[in-house]
Amino acid sequence: MTPVIALVGRPNVGKSTLFNQMTRSRDALVADFPGLTRDRKYGEGHYEGQKFIVIDTGGLTGDEAGIDAEMARQSMQAVEEADIVLFLVDGRAGLTAGDELIADFLRRSGKQAHLVVNKTDGQDPDVAASDFYRLGFDSPFLVAASHNRGIRSMLEVLLPEPENPEEQDRADRYPGIRIGIVGRPNVGKSTLVNRMLGEDRVVVYDMPGTTRDSVYIPYERHGHQYTLIDTAGVRRRKNVREAVEKFSIIKTLQAIDDAHVVILVIDAREGLVDQDLHLIGFVLDAGRSLVIAVNKWDGMDPEDRERVKEQVARRLDFLDYADKYYISALHGTGVGTMYESVQDCYDSAMAKWPTNRLTAILQDAVAQHQPPMVHGRRIKLRYAHQGGSNPPVVVVHGNQVDSLPGAYKRYLENIFRKVLKVVGAPIRFEFRAGE
Ligand code: GDP
Ligand code: GDP
Repeated sequence: MTPVIALVGRPNVGKSTLFNQMTRSRDALVADFPGLTRDRKYGEGHYEGQKFIVIDTGGLTGDEAGIDAEMARQSMQAVEEADIVLFLVDGRAGLTAGDELIADFLRRSGKQAHLVVNKTDGQDPDVAASDFYRLGFDSPFLVAASHNRGIRSMLEVLLPEPENPEEQDRADRYPGIRIGIVGRPNVGKSTLVNRMLGEDRVVVYDMPGTTRDSVYIPYERHGHQYTLIDTAGVRRRKNVREAVEKFSIIKTLQAIDDAHVVILVIDAREGLVDQDLHLIGFVLDAGRSLVIAVNKWDGMDPEDRERVKEQVARRLDFLDYADKYYISALHGTGVGTMYESVQDCYDSAMAKWPTNRLTAILQDAVAQHQPPMVHGRRIKLRYAHQGGSNPPVVVVHGNQVDSLPGAYKRYLENIFRKVLKVVGAPIRFEFRAGE
């Protein structure tokens, strides 16, 4: 499993700066869910081939008992679900009452946290740290986030040894196509999971784990193997009344990561909302294949249906390669038809293309429409080979590729998508200069 690192600390200690250094992400994935801290950020980082997820929890100010109680509760959910908690303090400002309150808060949560003293630049790091020893943590990490100092050695210590290959491919132990069922609360994920499984096809469903883990449910349908990744935790509930924290972004991110194909469930009664778009952003960012299921289509009147369809077409026009279904999980209408897209998505995500085929497509594309001239020389694209699957990666080799305009890259993506019949999956392109 991808380790999850949560950053906590007072405002201004350098959490966002550290977050940006750790993720170097183009855009942080900003999630804005009802009841979730508004500016909580999620990003993906890499260290020595090990991937991790970073969360800037944002919401701890030291006033946890007062007005910030709800925000704090949400931050604590992230803290509890994280594998590694980093408690950031400001080495310039020294110890403050807010730090002590947060330390106390973390202690009471029972979760082990690591102290990180930031802004140690321009002073003796040990002196900067000395103020904080009375917080009672083990020896702190000394960093200067804005100078990218101390971060790598911290990750070296914190991140678990890469697991042995069998463990690393935990998800691969589950047979067939892994389908992640993802969506915001109440859109009908649990209903859909139950509908897809029926009652008798379930082979195993009880799986130990924490609330942050999704449930993996292998099953068979028409002789094909699948594993549902159930983020709603339907099968974990011992009885209907048992309260389960149903929605968790960490759980959602992990499920997306582990899936071959993600079915993103949208509530037709509410239409497409920003949070749906955030979730779609997560899926695209992870490079997973996507099927859109607009649920609760039963009992809607024709004008409302027209309005929702029009809205989906307009707001998801950038997703024209993903199939959209209008279904009723409750009645089962349309649910079975999604398997066709699931199969196409899987085939696209896992396809293997020979180098000569990719190169031929590239050369045809170039012959039809030449790349532009840069500094009096034409950009040359010579050959292409596959760089990976799920998501499919196409590596294009040529000269001056750094100057290739975005519009031309999109042109190439369209051609490759059409010729290779890639459905649901984003194709990633990498451009390499030289031979
Ligand atoms: P957050 O509110 O905890 O997310 O804090 P920010 O990341 O926004 O940082 C607050 C301020 O501290 C900004 O002005 C940063 O440029 C500055 N800062 C962050 N890290 C360092 C550091 O390592 N050294 C110094 N000198 N300033 C830093
Ligand atoms: P989850 O939070 O995403 O797992 O959503 P649930 O599966 O618990 O569903 C939330 C509510 O929507 C429940 O009351 C369901 O009965 C209802 N629901 C789910 N699917 C449908 C559907 O296709 N049509 C209608 N009318 N209601 C549905």
